[in-house]
Amino acid sequence: MSSSRRKAMNAYQRQLFGAQTFLEYTLDHQLSVEKKRLLIFDNVLVELWDNGVLYFHPQAVSSADSILLSVGVHGNETAPIEIVDRLVSDILSGKTCLKHNLLVVIANPPAISASSREVDENMNRLFNNELHKNNKASAERLRSIDLMAYSTDFFNRHAEHKFHYDLHTAIRDSAYEVFAISPNISSASLVEQQYSTLAQWGIEAILSTDKNNATYSAFTARYCGAVSFTLELGKVKPFGENDLNKLSAVITGLDRLVSGCERHVTEVKKPRRFRVIAEVYKRSKDFQLCFAPATANFSEFARGDLLAVDTDYQYRVACDGERILFPNENVAIGQRTLVIVRPLDN
Ligand SMILES: [Zn+2]
Repeated sequence: MSSSRRKAMNAYQRQLFGAQTFLEYTLDHQLSVEKKRLLIFDNVLVELWDNGVLYFHPQAVSSADSILLSVGVHGNETAPIEIVDRLVSDILSGKTCLKHNLLVVIANPPAISASSREVDENMNRLFNNELHKNNKASAERLRSIDLMAYSTDFFNRHAEHKFHYDLHTAIRDSAYEVFAISPNISSASLVEQQYSTLAQWGIEAILSTDKNNATYSAFTARYCGAVSFTLELGKVKPFGENDLNKLSAVITGLDRLVSGCERHVTEVKKPRRFRVIAEVYKRSKDFQLCFAPATANFSEFARGDLLAVDTDYQYRVACDGERILFPNENVAIGQRTLVIVRPLDN
């Protein structure tokens, strides 16, 4: 961090994190963290609930929404982590004025410290309490149990509307660089309204899925009454190599969202809408994908194309317009290895 930025840190940030930012403090306090409570500008209550779990409550606002912003479920997806670290500093310095309840979660600090996607296993398959019965503990399992409890507690508190944005970056290139996954089962008007908010943030495609994949956003959509999204914000890069200018629409959008001054510009391009039509699971060690490893997300295939083979199984494109998403051969047997999507307007 530049010395001018460090100097700009205000007293509130210092009271919470010393000379550090929220991210730096989180990575430095993984073994134990002291719970903290503080009143900042405009009677906003700030509480550090746990390492990487920071709660804001504007006590003077009578009809606030509750917004959960989570990052770092995959430790090497750094751009979103930088974005929320900056947002927290902006709130604590008074640059961003908070009008809604906000829970900021840095989900997987050990994986962030190790610059790796995960320590023991993919955390974004663990947000379902049923999964944890009779299963041996892993770093990600223990943390996801805590995060489910904090998220439930947060969303149980009174709020006008409840929203969750779980921010990621993708491993591969994509025909749509910035896209959202919507696990919301209802197509209520609030969900539709959110699609236009996401369009303002530069989201190019929205993928609806009714599959319960135990992702963080599926958990809050199903069990916490939130309108929830996983946002994929470009491609994975190490800290310091992200061009946050490319994500300026998202950064501005989040800032306006938490400060309650969303602007509705009508001329933004509508995101292309997709839905999940199939998921392919790895059944045996003989599983193989039948396209080039570097194939971009949302690449389209023709009817009859062979996409995957396994013992006594194959996946052939059945309909025009089918596209692939998140292909990954290197998963454990029984895990999802490929998602097939189609445009909603096809
Ligand atoms: Zn991710």
